Amino acid sequence: MYEKRKKQSSFPWGLTQNKAVKFFSTFFVGAILMCFMPAAKFPQRKIDKIQTIVLDAGHGGEDTGAPGIKGSREFLEKEVTLDLALRLGKIIEEKMPEVRVLYTRKSDKSVKLWERPNFANRNEADLFISIHCNANNNPKAHGSETYFMGLHVNEGNLDVAKRENAAITYEADYRDNDRYGGFDPNSPESHIIFSLVQNAYMNQSLRLSSYVETETGKISQIRSRGVKQAGFLVLWKTSMPSILVETGFITNPEDRKYLASDEGRNTIANGIFKAIENYKSFVEKTPQ
Ligand SMILES: [Zn+2]
Repeated sequence: MYEKRKKQSSFPWGLTQNKAVKFFSTFFVGAILMCFMPAAKFPQRKIDKIQTIVLDAGHGGEDTGAPGIKGSREFLEKEVTLDLALRLGKIIEEKMPEVRVLYTRKSDKSVKLWERPNFANRNEADLFISIHCNANNNPKAHGSETYFMGLHVNEGNLDVAKRENAAITYEADYRDNDRYGGFDPNSPESHIIFSLVQNAYMNQSLRLSSYVETETGKISQIRSRGVKQAGFLVLWKTSMPSILVETGFITNPEDRKYLASDEGRNTIANGIFKAIENYKSFVEKTPQ
């Protein structure tokens, strides 16, 4: 028994020997690949003022996102994300008239995954916020999570990224699209390699993520599950602090009810706004 325990504890995060070998070989291949990636591709812009914010309503059009309770057509993830983005945008426009708010979509249309960060980069956005709803086969799973780009530390975080990244499969040409660098949504190794790409704005994204979880956690009925890291295609090539908010589980009856309500949506939008406000005042007061 002791031997068995000792063997099991030899690798971090409860990995078995085979999985550990696979994980670390992928890690080192990724690290070597990174050495050859042109750093100039993602030049770091000094962002000491928040002037433009891009709000990204997840999914849209044919890609409905998570459908919630099986068989129910009460509402879809793509509808909640759009409504939350529009509510949040309205609050920013009202309370921060000096800030330009741009949307990757303002209606039920499909927007390719590469185009979302591309749109933010083209417009020299100072923040990129992607809004989503979580889903799980276990209806008891509930709560909000805010992600920034990085290597997942557990399978649960990887599963969230895999589910969101599966949106790529709605793009018929994704396998041949150079913009995705051969990314395979079904391969865990592919997720690991691309999540290792250096993100110049990691600390800023972490700060904003923490503000979102703290502020929404204070006022929302949906409990915070904290700040997490995983490799999301939508955050991959952004050249500004960028986060992905999983506002709640559409598959959990309580979260779902809250996400369906006017009160719930306003509270979540206000929580994210408060986080932006805190972040903006931090950045504009602190020399970067
Ligand atoms: Zn989503």
